[in-house]
Amino acid sequence: MVHEGLKKVLNGIVAAAQTAGRAPGDVTLIAVSKTFDGPEIIPVIEAGQRVFGENRVQEAKGKWPALRMAWPDVELHLIGPLQSNKAAEAVQLFDAIHTVDRPKIATAIATEIRRQSKPLTLFVQVNTGREPQKAGIDPDHADAFLRECRELHGLEISGLMCIPPAEEDPKRHFTLLAEIATRNGLTQLSMGMSGDYASAIACGATHVRVGSAIFGTR
Ligand SMILES: *Cc1c(COP(=O)(O)O)cnc(C)c1O
Repeated sequence: MVHEGLKKVLNGIVAAAQTAGRAPGDVTLIAVSKTFDGPEIIPVIEAGQRVFGENRVQEAKGKWPALRMAWPDVELHLIGPLQSNKAAEAVQLFDAIHTVDRPKIATAIATEIRRQSKPLTLFVQVNTGREPQKAGIDPDHADAFLRECRELHGLEISGLMCIPPAEEDPKRHFTLLAEIATRNGLTQLSMGMSGDYASAIACGATHVRVGSAIFGTR
């Protein structure tokens, strides 16, 4: 089955990867289904998409268990802020968390991963624009925090995630994130949304988080 929004974005990813001289298969599309429900999500699954993103634990808990019963090979990524009292539920529900951004969350996730013996892919969120209202570790503290995640909490971090400031050219932020990843030996970059995923792919994104371009406006 074909889903027009999904098809358009998948074609856009292939085009952006080819322009950047990269293999399209090196970019994972995370279809961000926040605010949408079964009737909008199921056609995207039926069109073949298997990786989805949600930004709220409670919302994901309400709709995904039933969908995953029907499609057990669906992979679910948490892309929104996590409170430590939700860490147990998050570790249980998600296959990846993109928003590890402070010691308290690193501790809570590490505890739950051990307790539940659940392997999880983890990204550290970096506040590349140093915006006070935005989650993410300050770029100046990223190296130390990554070391702390590994050495103190025994967490294996796969990569970095950022959400650039809305009014700025995202390229500078994507480049900064890529630099921090490289110097810390990380290969995965979660960056790029509906409006800027092509630019993110040009800067090395391995995971793009695309919502409205697939599902329509929220
Ligand atoms: C909602 C959201 C997205 C997707 O945004 P679109 O502009 O709809 O593609 C990506 N990343 C995060 C963290 C989000 O909360």
